[in-house]
Amino acid sequence: MDKQQAEGKMKELKEQLEEYGYHYYVLDQPKVPDAEYDRLLQELVHLEEAYPELATDDSPTMRIGGEPASAFKKVTHRVPMMSLSNAFSADDLRSFDRRVRQAVGEQVSYVCELKFDGLAISLTYENGSLVRGATRGDGTTGEEITSNLRTIPSIPLRLKKPVSIEVRGEAYMPKQSFERLNEAKEQAGEEKFANPRNAAAGSLRQLDPKIAAKRNLAMFAYSIGELRGQTITSHHQGLALLDDLGFKVNKEATVCETIDEVIAFTEKWVENRHELPYEIDGIVIKVNDLAQHETLGFTAKSPRWATAYKFPAEEVMTTLHKIELNV
Ligand code: NAD
Repeated sequence: MDKQQAEGKMKELKEQLEEYGYHYYVLDQPKVPDAEYDRLLQELVHLEEAYPELATDDSPTMRIGGEPASAFKKVTHRVPMMSLSNAFSADDLRSFDRRVRQAVGEQVSYVCELKFDGLAISLTYENGSLVRGATRGDGTTGEEITSNLRTIPSIPLRLKKPVSIEVRGEAYMPKQSFERLNEAKEQAGEEKFANPRNAAAGSLRQLDPKIAAKRNLAMFAYSIGELRGQTITSHHQGLALLDDLGFKVNKEATVCETIDEVIAFTEKWVENRHELPYEIDGIVIKVNDLAQHETLGFTAKSPRWATAYKFPAEEVMTTLHKIELNV
């Protein structure tokens, strides 16, 4: 492909990805399966790497999430809520590990966590009380959805200790609740949700909190955005603190001392993911030591101390996706 052809292809990919992103993030109604979106995004990443002079700031490769919906009050995140770089193979994970070890120049251990397929949220507590809940939005500005989040039973309204903390996690809809909801929608002749992720996002974006309250949502807490009056030195210690404060923290999070252990963890979950009562779309790998996070820093879009391993695309697509794609 010569430069002119690459330019044409990049324009086409950008338009397509923007359109798919709008349906996914803003309307909560994806037009294509995630694997197809990821494939197109990777194609654009490779073209931007081959022709850096053609890369633009408005490219979907530079964007985090979608625009905040206009119906809600906007919230500015004091600490930006970033995206994650992706790994699609064991080789990608080994390259990530090499980059990390080169940058820190010392022993590195990782925490492997399930990548819950829901909606990233931020919860702010002052002296132990929940004062604000928000979506990630575009990473800088999210939507204030406190009333909806208060209806989720696994979100503590008061913490077990009077700390001031900003907690991040994933709000999700368990598979069983999703199936029941879609059955009810079918019986009522209403349009069904494509998957639990969109059902969770759609439920939290309703202006009436009574709807979210009926949807049986849950949340796993997985990181701390800001913490006042206490110091922690590792990510794993942070998860233990969240557990102590009364959050639901996923029990599968595991410290791995080598990249081989990380790869074994990903392989185990490619096999076992369907046994879980909620959906996951990969594994998140985070450097454990917080001082090493400081050394590694961030790119424009994501931290250099973490990556998301995405499960290989599966042959079976939901009926909805088949209809959308006419296959
Ligand atoms: P991402 O895949 O880059 O990952 C970041 C997100 O992972 C975080 O915001 C958080 O919500 C989530 N996460 C889950 N478990 C976590 C854990 N344990 N620790 C930390 N984070 C955790 O997410 P993204 O930037 O929101 O978007 C990319 C995703 O959206 C891709 O999977 C893509 O396929 C999908 N997408 C699909 C379409 C479509 O049309 N089908 C369109 C746009 C985006």
